[in-house]
Amino acid sequence: MTAQPPEFYDEGALIGVLTAQPLDRVLDYKAPEGGVVLGAFVEVPLGPRKVVGVVWGPGQGDYDISKVRRIIRVLDVAPMRTEMREFLTRAGEYTLTPLSMMLRLATRAPGLGDPPSMRKVYALGHREPSRMTEARARVLEVLEAQGGIFTLKELSEQAEVTSSVVKGLVTQGAVIEDDTPRDVAFPRLDPARASKELTEDQAGCAETLRAALRSDAYGTTLLRGVTGSGKTEVYLEAVAEALRLGRQALVLLPEIALTAEFLTRVEARFGARPAEWHSGVAMTERRRTWRMVGQGGAQLIVGARSALFLPFQNLGLIVVDEEHDSSYKQEEGVLYNARDMAVLRASICGAQVVLASATPSLESWSNAEAGKYTRLDLAARYGKAVLPEIRAVDMRAETLPSSRWISPTLQRAVEQRIKAGEQSLLFINRRGYAPVTLCRACGHQIGCDHCDARMVEHRFLKRLMCHQCGETKPMPTVCPACGAEDKLAPVGPGVERLGEEAAALFPEARIATLSSDMFGSARALKEQINEIAMGGADIIIGTQLVAKGHNFPLLTLVGVIDADLGLQGSDLRAAERTFQLMRQVAGRAGRADKPGTALLQTFQPEHPVIRAILAGDEEGFWRAEADGRRHAGVPPYGRMAGIILSAPDLEMAFDLGNWLARNDAPLRQIGAQVFGPAPAPIARVRGRHRVRLLVKAPKGAALQPAIARWIGSAKAPNALRLSVDIDPQSFL
Ligand code: ADP
Ligand code: ZN
Repeated sequence: MTAQPPEFYDEGALIGVLTAQPLDRVLDYKAPEGGVVLGAFVEVPLGPRKVVGVVWGPGQGDYDISKVRRIIRVLDVAPMRTEMREFLTRAGEYTLTPLSMMLRLATRAPGLGDPPSMRKVYALGHREPSRMTEARARVLEVLEAQGGIFTLKELSEQAEVTSSVVKGLVTQGAVIEDDTPRDVAFPRLDPARASKELTEDQAGCAETLRAALRSDAYGTTLLRGVTGSGKTEVYLEAVAEALRLGRQALVLLPEIALTAEFLTRVEARFGARPAEWHSGVAMTERRRTWRMVGQGGAQLIVGARSALFLPFQNLGLIVVDEEHDSSYKQEEGVLYNARDMAVLRASICGAQVVLASATPSLESWSNAEAGKYTRLDLAARYGKAVLPEIRAVDMRAETLPSSRWISPTLQRAVEQRIKAGEQSLLFINRRGYAPVTLCRACGHQIGCDHCDARMVEHRFLKRLMCHQCGETKPMPTVCPACGAEDKLAPVGPGVERLGEEAAALFPEARIATLSSDMFGSARALKEQINEIAMGGADIIIGTQLVAKGHNFPLLTLVGVIDADLGLQGSDLRAAERTFQLMRQVAGRAGRADKPGTALLQTFQPEHPVIRAILAGDEEGFWRAEADGRRHAGVPPYGRMAGIILSAPDLEMAFDLGNWLARNDAPLRQIGAQVFGPAPAPIARVRGRHRVRLLVKAPKGAALQPAIARWIGSAKAPNALRLSVDIDPQSFL
């Protein structure tokens, strides 16, 4: 029988501490003076260093007790809760990730162990300054008019004075300088403020979600509705209910670029802005957010997938917006899918999950079919907007000069829109100028020096770029293979090249090209998108970036340049992704009051995916796709895992791969099969060779323990890295 670990350890007691160091075990330490509670964040000595760890339970006692060292100090942050420890443990078991690596995800706050940091703030004093100047008067005016406290920067900026003016007023006693902790609570959000008046449909869905929250138990709801149907309005009501119940809410968005618009909506609804958590947030603010989430000083967090690992004290709701988005799958380090981990986390802490999408993943769709998730459908669009008409342009019947991609049919449609003062969007899901740079003398295609990927020309940056590893180099003038001069030519279209073609076809039009790599910051992108949405362009050329959530009221035509792009390739989810992307892009047209048209350029108008899109038959598409996958025994009707072996030389990776393939008894025991080893589709990344094995198992099989036994039996050389990808999304 295992005894429950005690909640408190007296001074000198033997305890186990988990650190984020890559060790395979919890280490023994002695509790410090004053004792320590389970879950406390502590600083411990490790060799010559001091590292941060978490009190994980009683010590193992299998280490020479006289050598066990003492915890240095207990950090001044809220202890990790039991449910968080359980979440990390189970998420680690699911993804086959060591606990130490999981802990790293949960401690991604800078200066976790530092004492509370202070900053100077300024408020109105009681004395008059001896001499009044115009600048001084402005400072006092700002303080009087707005009340409250300011940082030096805020105050001098608002009053348009230098900081020395403020400092001068401080010496005079006219302004008071004070120290205040940096890590202060976020402003309260007020759920009692009025919401928009919901349609009957929306109100029904909102009430179902509110009731689910009041049940105080775990549950997942798939909230489906076309773009613009009001999903965000509806889940904001679920957030409001969580706030009323005094519970915290987390909203995950797939793109940082989308947060700005969402923050504005939150402010309009609840009267203040929520906390943010993503790579664009400054370090001090990250620290504040991490601490405040743990102390209950943050009610709502808007963030990227890593926000799931924040130390929530009382999490009641997780919204995963655009739940089908592939960016929820983390593809480096710990390979987890934030959508699935959200469900796990919520099930542990008795919270509700809302998965919102216009085009759910097949996984979520089938979970709803099976009754595991509640399904809510928002049928109509809000207001006058109607779904666009979707038509195929059969490219076999169009005549196009070479190196041109806009068909005459699409060209005419764009011209009509320009005449009517409306906007068109031309969509191509390829960044850069051209995907391939070919030498016309020898046929050589310029590749990346570190990967097997081809280099993509980016004319905007005047460089070639590898989309796999990010390596760039200047565009060469001679062929690196044969030395021929001026023979290098771009092949195929990218978003920049399409922009060039559009400029030639529509010389009068204002054209805006939007691609994520053209903007230094999310804010610059956001500003540009806003300007365009207000009518700043006649033609918008974009990659999938524009398919995500932005509102273009003047847009009435969407032209998809290559609807066949996602249909090729060996990817299990190619059809699903194409379907989602097309529906979403088509959803861009006619959001406000003008009906829209979407034209899909395709060489395969008979393809089931293209036909389902044209017919607008979502249920039909899902059913066909589900049948196919059920038949093949692949996810979500079977289980899969990828094993990637990477090594400095190919032979080493293949040797281990072959050994694993031959010694697959642990897999056969659960009825699983292994395929490979084969070179991974991108066979070289950053100078390392990659080999892949694919494991396929029946739905109910205990896949992870079997894989753990299997790879545990292999002897890998030190230079070889092995990573396991449970439920792989991409097959790279
Ligand atoms: P989705 O999340 O499904 O794309 P949104 O919630 O963003 O839809 O709604 C689309 C637009 O319609 C937004 O600008 C939103 O504010 C507006 N809207 C939706 N429902 C209502 C409503 N009941 N009253 C007023 N405006 C609404
Ligand atoms: Zn590369």
